[in-house]
Amino acid sequence: MLAWGCNDGYRAVMKTDPRTAPGASSTTAREDDQSDNAPDDLTDNFIEEIIEADLRAGKHGGHIVTRFPPEPNGCLHIGHAKAICLNFSLAAKYNGQCNLRFDDTNPTTEDTDFVEAIKEDVHWLGFDWKDKEFFASGYFPKLYDFARTLINTGHAYVDSQSLAEIRENRGNYYKPGIESPYRDRSVAENLDLFTRMRAGEFDEGAHVLRAKIDMQSSDILMRDPLLYRIHKTPHHRTGTEWPIYPMYDFAHGLSDSIERVTHSICTLEFQNNRPLYNWFLETLDVPHKPQQIEFARLNLTSTVLSKRVLQRLVHENHVTGWNDPRMPTLSGLRRRGYTPEAIRAFCDTIGVARRDGRIELALLEHTIREHLNATSPRVMSVLRPLRLVIENYPEGNTDFFTCPVNPEDPAAGTHEVPFSRVLYVERDDFLEDPPKKWFRLTPGREVRLRYACLVTCKEAIKDPNTGEIVELRCEWDPASRGGASPDGRKVRGTIHWVSAAHAFDAEVRLYDRLFAVDNPLAEEHGNDLASVLNPDSLEVLTGCKLAPSLKTTQPGTRLQFERLGYFCADTLDSTPGHPVFNRTIGLRDSWAKIAQKQSKTKQAGRR
Ligand code: ATP
Ligand code: MG
Repeated sequence: MLAWGCNDGYRAVMKTDPRTAPGASSTTAREDDQSDNAPDDLTDNFIEEIIEADLRAGKHGGHIVTRFPPEPNGCLHIGHAKAICLNFSLAAKYNGQCNLRFDDTNPTTEDTDFVEAIKEDVHWLGFDWKDKEFFASGYFPKLYDFARTLINTGHAYVDSQSLAEIRENRGNYYKPGIESPYRDRSVAENLDLFTRMRAGEFDEGAHVLRAKIDMQSSDILMRDPLLYRIHKTPHHRTGTEWPIYPMYDFAHGLSDSIERVTHSICTLEFQNNRPLYNWFLETLDVPHKPQQIEFARLNLTSTVLSKRVLQRLVHENHVTGWNDPRMPTLSGLRRRGYTPEAIRAFCDTIGVARRDGRIELALLEHTIREHLNATSPRVMSVLRPLRLVIENYPEGNTDFFTCPVNPEDPAAGTHEVPFSRVLYVERDDFLEDPPKKWFRLTPGREVRLRYACLVTCKEAIKDPNTGEIVELRCEWDPASRGGASPDGRKVRGTIHWVSAAHAFDAEVRLYDRLFAVDNPLAEEHGNDLASVLNPDSLEVLTGCKLAPSLKTTQPGTRLQFERLGYFCADTLDSTPGHPVFNRTIGLRDSWAKIAQKQSKTKQAGRR
């Protein structure tokens, strides 16, 4: 569907919803790169091909400048990470520069806190803009001069219609626009009115400045787009200095030009804005004309990547904030335990395409799992504890058993884990009446306590009132110290444990996907976020029994809890001696299993 109006709001309105665009599909890695111009060199994507061709042609004096241009009206999400990785990596590859520019042209939605948060996120991701930190608001005087030049050359006029009239008279895809009765004001009158708009003489909505292009244009964005609006809201950087603010389309390309950006890389929805982007550069005949190149934005299954919707999640209290560990924001992912390396690897894997698609969230999860598997120390902790008493182990005694820090990384060494008569094991590692092929604890069954020994369960003690199992009575084989079977007898189950006397109590938060559906913004779900949320996206467990070595864990530390998943000490709620842990991700893709099961059930239902 075509929607008109970059001037309806401050930002360009999406012309085509990428989720419903022709060709939208569940693409994964690099499917589209191969479409045209198969690279015959060392380029990774079509943008590199364009840059290399420009370099060969001697354009831009051989110096490449890109930019990452966030609007500081929210926190960055994983989609922005794709744009950040792309822009900074291109600059690095071609010995150029990537600027960080805040496109802060809308005082009503922007905030300094977001500016700081964005800088923190870009640095965390591993990129540095050096001293090239810019703000569109820093160009307000230059942009104002550009606007005056447009008036002077007969390319802009002050329109005194209301915004509603302007919208109505712009027409639509099927209906040509109607020229404003103010369109032919003289240059002198336009200059006078615009000067007085700038001086704050008029109320909001009294006048706007518009480019004089073509109200009959088939390209609706070219039907005299707005350049300036009156806004009496103080700006987070310029305060009350400016009562008028430039529109995004006007400010963006000219800011690129001022910064001598060579390749202005943006997402596909800006393709329709390119003629207007170029119109400003040509009409003002600026000395530096950047080239706008569009690429496919990142869309992820079971996720929303739109600041507007993320903001709703925050404001409607579905999450605790922008940095809630379930959010796809970089601050949320960081708090959840994601690593910048994994996010960069993910962006590299998905590549840069020219057609929109959807990437499976499982691919991101796989990437973080891979990185954490290679780098996380292993510890044993018990989340839902059940007491296990080894009756034939001496009271008051402690043994120490040696565990590898990370079996994937022998250089990481080993650590010692205390063992004593009373342990905790995971409640769901015991079943009184197990099915076939149950190799874990049940009366009469011998299992291995990881790295420690073999124990046989003798009896399960129940609460006389509730019938709940409260304790397991076991015996160990002292000859199995270290966990090896002393006579080669087969023990198939291995479980983790902690020593009750040494473990400490802590809160652990089990995070899962925030959305229960594949495409939360699909029309069929209406606009109701609550109806598409996964009700089990957070389970808070208290009284977990954690390994004593974790007591002094620094916030942000990432670990694997053996058999349970990857966890990270929360950076906000942990206090010295009292870490709180967030589950980053389980050890396996449980959603794939659920999906498989569902599809099997469906198939069975059809038969
Ligand atoms: P949102 O769509 O979440 O509201 P936005 O486009 O309004 O984001 P900006 O602050 O304008 O947010 O984004 C800065 C840059 O990041 C832009 O160049 C934009 O094209 C890019 N970007 C935003 N979302 C994505 C995405 N999902 N995938 C790739 N790049 C993105
Ligand atoms: Mg944008």
